[in-house]
Amino acid sequence: MTAPTSTPTRVLVLNSGSSSLKYQLIDMRDGSRPAQGIVERIGEETSRLAHTPLREGGGGKRERNGPISDHSAALKAVAEELAADGLGLDSPELAAIGHRVVHGGLRFTEPTVVNGEVLAEIERLVPVAPLHNPANLIGIRTAMALRPDLPQVAVFDTAFHTTMPESAARYAIDVETADAHRIRRYGFHGTSHAYVSRETARLLGKAPEEVNVIVLHLGNGASASAVRGGRCVDTSMGLTPLEGLVMGTRSGDIDPAVTFHLRRVAGMSADEIDVLLNKRSGLVGLCGDNDMREIRRRIDEGDERAALAFDVYVHRLKKYIGAYYAVLGRVDAVAFTAGVGENAAPVRQAAIAGLEELGLAVDAELNAARSDGARIISPEYARVAVAVVPTDEELEIARQSYALVRGADAPDGTAREALVRGAEGSNE
Ligand code: AMP
Repeated sequence: MTAPTSTPTRVLVLNSGSSSLKYQLIDMRDGSRPAQGIVERIGEETSRLAHTPLREGGGGKRERNGPISDHSAALKAVAEELAADGLGLDSPELAAIGHRVVHGGLRFTEPTVVNGEVLAEIERLVPVAPLHNPANLIGIRTAMALRPDLPQVAVFDTAFHTTMPESAARYAIDVETADAHRIRRYGFHGTSHAYVSRETARLLGKAPEEVNVIVLHLGNGASASAVRGGRCVDTSMGLTPLEGLVMGTRSGDIDPAVTFHLRRVAGMSADEIDVLLNKRSGLVGLCGDNDMREIRRRIDEGDERAALAFDVYVHRLKKYIGAYYAVLGRVDAVAFTAGVGENAAPVRQAAIAGLEELGLAVDAELNAARSDGARIISPEYARVAVAVVPTDEELEIARQSYALVRGADAPDGTAREALVRGAEGSNE
């Protein structure tokens, strides 16, 4: 653990879900995590807090089991755990609390220090993010009550995508109806796409402005983005995270008429269709499993449904690689990230297979090798680098929060301008 200094160097990153609260205390000097953890099943009898302090030689993980009634109680419990490690919320080393906020609409193009007006705007966006923004708001309000004097920074999942041109962000529907209901493509996972596209440039030894990257964030939720010179020009998620790639439980792209059909022919309600497409589709809908490890195991045993799910998943992925290649014109790198992207070599191999004419290839040995760090898996001769770049959304939130409140480059050397950019020139 690092000794106290007069300059605050730590950021507490909070990610509040509907029934969970994830947290990481990050030291900006070296990106280390003095403590991190999760509170799960908030509001139930069986809540659980798992807290992991950074200890030499590991160990020291603590658990609390028993009812934690709401997010306020959850954050208070987290504060107690942090205090027990000498890392309490009253620590002078804390520079800010950084909050993940899923939907920032068009208004929030960069990290923003929270005040009453910002809270009201996040609230106004609840209709377009009914599952996420309310939980994010509770997390922010609770943290503000505990440390009213400390800057609370909102970092939006949509912000990185606000540079998309209108041609990519607009749905081709009646403009008045779209505008009246703020219907357009916003995109999500922006914090990850920002981080990974920048880290990919670093891996290539170039500045972000010099490279065009296709980022494939393949976790349980999945999205692709086309990033030109550090700015997003297209992304696969839309008004909500449902659009685009095949995901663990979401369908991704689908003919919208499927929804009318289900209403008219199957008599399903809007809510039932919502659950079908968001929770019972994608890999789980196709084969009953959403974990790629399990799907690969089943394929190895000759399971045809698992093989079909894999093929549908990879086909969609390949389509997006081709589409974003065309959008960008010139591609320097394709970067795979998140749970599937970082770990599932067969997905990477299958998605890139057959794209040699586009300068894309994967070296079987490099692809199969395991490593925690960012690495290139394409052969030397390939014109376009294919990379595995582990994402770190918490570090990105901490970097952006720190850059904003300290008005400085991140202590690890990432330039402030790269972290806190307005979207000047957006929607061009
Ligand atoms: P994420 O949402 O980024 O945490 O990704 C979670 C998903 O990553 C899981 O549902 C799995 O499908 C996938 N995953 C995690 N580890 C592996 C692995 N070793 N091999 C293949 N897929 C994995």
